[in-house]
Amino acid sequence: MVGGKYKSRKYRKTYRKTPGGRCVVHYSSRKAERAKCFKCGRALQGSKLIATSHEGFLPKTAKGVSRIFGGSLCGICAKEILKTKARSI
Ligand SMILES: [Zn+2]
Repeated sequence: MVGGKYKSRKYRKTYRKTPGGRCVVHYSSRKAERAKCFKCGRALQGSKLIATSHEGFLPKTAKGVSRIFGGSLCGICAKEILKTKARSI
């Protein structure tokens, strides 16, 4: 049984095969990452480096810019989507 702190999703699990043939689990801490655009994958401007475990504790202003699709899309993708929506009406 693993220790209590490894039961949360704070640590990344990787499965490794030992030279003896056993399969063991290695736990490593997750890297801090910038929020990314869900369309193109570029890092969002105005977002800070966020460790996954601390995301909920940051202020709203640190998670993205305050415009439409601010915390989820980059400026270029938001512009494209708004253009296509406006033209389809
Ligand atoms: Zn984008």
